[in-house]
Amino acid sequence: VTKEHHRSSYKLFEPSISENFKNMLTMESELRKALAHEQFELHYQPQKDLGSGKIVGIEALLRWNHPVNGYIPPDEFISLAEKTGLIIDIGEWVLKEACKQNKAWQDKGYEPVIVGVNLSAKQFNQKGLVENIESILEQTGLDARYLELEITESMAMSNEDYIIHTMKRLRKLGVLVSIDDFGTGYSSLRYLSIFPVTKLKIDKMFMDDNQKQNQAIVKSIIHMSHSLNMKVIAEGVETIEQLSFLESEKCDEVQGFYFSKPLPPAQLTKFFQVQ
Ligand code: C2E
Ligand code: MG
Ligand code: MG
Ligand code: MG
Repeated sequence: VTKEHHRSSYKLFEPSISENFKNMLTMESELRKALAHEQFELHYQPQKDLGSGKIVGIEALLRWNHPVNGYIPPDEFISLAEKTGLIIDIGEWVLKEACKQNKAWQDKGYEPVIVGVNLSAKQFNQKGLVENIESILEQTGLDARYLELEITESMAMSNEDYIIHTMKRLRKLGVLVSIDDFGTGYSSLRYLSIFPVTKLKIDKMFMDDNQKQNQAIVKSIIHMSHSLNMKVIAEGVETIEQLSFLESEKCDEVQGFYFSKPLPPAQLTKFFQVQ
């Protein structure tokens, strides 16, 4: 079932507020069932290093494979999961699954890659997050340096002192930390320079070639990242022109439909090299 199909089937219920409310309650209870009935899946999108030409990372992206509506993209249920607190359990499942899968690929002899996992604000601010991640790494046997946690710019720029403290503890474990959707929020450059962040992810909105100033912004972000000793990756790379520009500006890595959309695990292995 396509996304369009899903959207239009929901439209049927949109007219009144009470219907919407009922709909949300239905969705909440379905979301609760989804974990127990193993309806969640992770798809992975490759990240290419422009220096070596190798796939060095993959981003884990959550999919809800609903028995009736088919694949539901995360933008349609993550915020409800946040509001209801379900994101804690879902997020823990995502972390475990991503680490387990990455370790399984390494055990098969593929060259190790870093798996990026998106964290929600509630999850990042949850007590015991660091201990939880430590125990997931232990259980799955994945080396900490192959896990990268992505937090959004807006998350990082609220509650900065606590975020820095948690990031430091995560870095001590050996886990990598990146700032996702960079450029869409309001960064304090002072904080950015003291965050123990390993990578900036330039938001895909800056890949839009119709906006003249975008190239200047992308250049600045690349230069700033390097000055701050961070790596930088461009998201949403769809065309050869975008790729050439990023190459000429010495962007470290790229991710986008030009190389691959997010894929189920079995289909991703064609990007991997055997050591
Ligand atoms: P994100 O972390 O910024 O992920 C990148 C999004 O851009 C993904 O959408 C991906 O499919 C899409 N994308 C990748 N390449 C291209 C491209 O070349 N062009 C375009 N137009 N889009 C591209 P997706 O999978 O629908 O995820 C949307 C957002 O949902 C993610 O944005 C992330 O914020 C959130 N999300 C996904 N998985 C999780 C998760 O496990 N936990 C949490 N808390 N949030 C998640
Ligand atoms: Mg992300
Ligand atoms: Mg992003
Ligand atoms: Mg995003």
